Amino acid sequence: MNLAHLLQRQALLAPDAPAIFEGTQQVATYGQWGQRSATLAARLHAAGLAPGDRVLLFMRNHPRYLELLLGAWWAGLAVVPVNAKLHPAEVEWIIDNAQVRWAFVSHDVAPRPLAGLERQWEVDSDAVSALLAPLPGQAGADPAITPRGPDDLAWLFYTSGTTGRPKGVMLTHRNLMTMGLTYAIDVDALQSGDTMVYAAPMSHGCGLYAVPHLMAGARHVVPASGGVDAAELCALGEALGPLSTFAAPTIVQRLVNHVEQAGLTPAECARRFKTIVYGGAPMYRADIERALAVMGPRFVQIYGQGETPMVATALSRQQLANHSHPRWGERIASVGVAQTPVIIRVADALGLPLRPGHTGEVLVRGDTVMAGYWRNPEATAAAVRDGWLWTGDMGSLDADGFLTLKDRSKDLVISGGSNIYPREVEEVLLTAPGVAEVAVVGAPDPEWGEVLVAFVVLRQGTPDSAALDTHCLAHIARFKRPKRYVFVEALPKNHYGKVLKTELRRRAALSPPACG
Ligand code: AMP
Repeated sequence: MNLAHLLQRQALLAPDAPAIFEGTQQVATYGQWGQRSATLAARLHAAGLAPGDRVLLFMRNHPRYLELLLGAWWAGLAVVPVNAKLHPAEVEWIIDNAQVRWAFVSHDVAPRPLAGLERQWEVDSDAVSALLAPLPGQAGADPAITPRGPDDLAWLFYTSGTTGRPKGVMLTHRNLMTMGLTYAIDVDALQSGDTMVYAAPMSHGCGLYAVPHLMAGARHVVPASGGVDAAELCALGEALGPLSTFAAPTIVQRLVNHVEQAGLTPAECARRFKTIVYGGAPMYRADIERALAVMGPRFVQIYGQGETPMVATALSRQQLANHSHPRWGERIASVGVAQTPVIIRVADALGLPLRPGHTGEVLVRGDTVMAGYWRNPEATAAAVRDGWLWTGDMGSLDADGFLTLKDRSKDLVISGGSNIYPREVEEVLLTAPGVAEVAVVGAPDPEWGEVLVAFVVLRQGTPDSAALDTHCLAHIARFKRPKRYVFVEALPKNHYGKVLKTELRRRAALSPPACG
């Protein structure tokens, strides 16, 4: 089992079929994609990289992402996708932890050489074009794909950790093959004429949607901006649609706002968008109701996490659209039912199943659950017990198997679909001059879902939010910075000296946006 066979199959079946687009511009047919990935594989081997080695992708969304990903798999290597918004120091930590020798980067996200690498390739460079150019005398998609076992590593995805250091989630060929097949059953019926557009970061779950769309021989479109722009998406939909895409709730809201302002009818939306998969953070009931009213029944919700990528539950298009169901209101506020290859359990602290209606931790079991955390047996043993993945999310099942999420047991904030562990930000703020104590919590925000609010106790000096913001910018990714600072005399604590984060969350939700 090697995921690269999915590409080889399409390259043989339909070599002239359009495969990869940058904006509306076709940049590869399936035949060319197969050739380039096979060529890259040969050059990776020639350079001394061996099956099982890892290559890092630290770049914005880019059409070459797909060629590099499949080329690495073709050679039997695993990919380490890195969020383009990370600070170079954070990426260097990952390079060291994952023992990476080669990285492909976008110039703007990695303007300087990253420490610890043997080779750093700038994705738009002639050197990378040369890596993908046919080998002398190459026939089609040769050389042969390096065989891989189902349990071999394909994707090593770093998720932020509660300990302040990210953990490498090991996803295997079996995990991703199962994820791909599941998409066609639980999320969207696929056809070769489908068009997947990568608006959300390809380094995250959205990039993995290359797998099901590769299985179907669909078109893969990377927006020219490389990012999420509602107007651009609508224009792409007009040119190449109907599009399928994945978006965090924040982005869905932006798209709905744009569609409303542009005065598009649901029928006009249907010509531009086939399926909008949303997930990654809570979607409020009022927001999905509005999205359905404005754009029509083209939404599917998924709930998953890096450790069981895109696959835990799904709320189907039909379930979302079925207004006449007596429990429709509850259902659209839920995250749906278990996807086909997994079972879901809501459990007590011992892992025993709770009855419907009772809240406990959400556990997932099945072939999409990760092989473990990279070189971190303690964290793996804590997260996967007797085959069950402990998600850290709290929820309850109803009698029909619909899961409603309540809260997270982990101290995690999700802002605009990006996960931020407050501990990581606290550690950085504690190194700022004059800061004695700090506690960071999430506060509800209409645009981002949640934003970070930092409560700061100063040892000396005067409150200066701008200085703390500059300090964060120098050490962590931009999106992890607190949006607000509240300077306090002391942090509220319990008898054991543990900061009362629940109290701070309450205060943060009350405090006016401009405070600090
Ligand atoms: P990540 O590992 O970055 O994919 O983040 C996974 C976390 O995002 C989950 O553990 C949940 O807390 C949250 N999440 C994912 N999907 C949903 C959803 N549909 N609704 C609410 N929260 C979600």
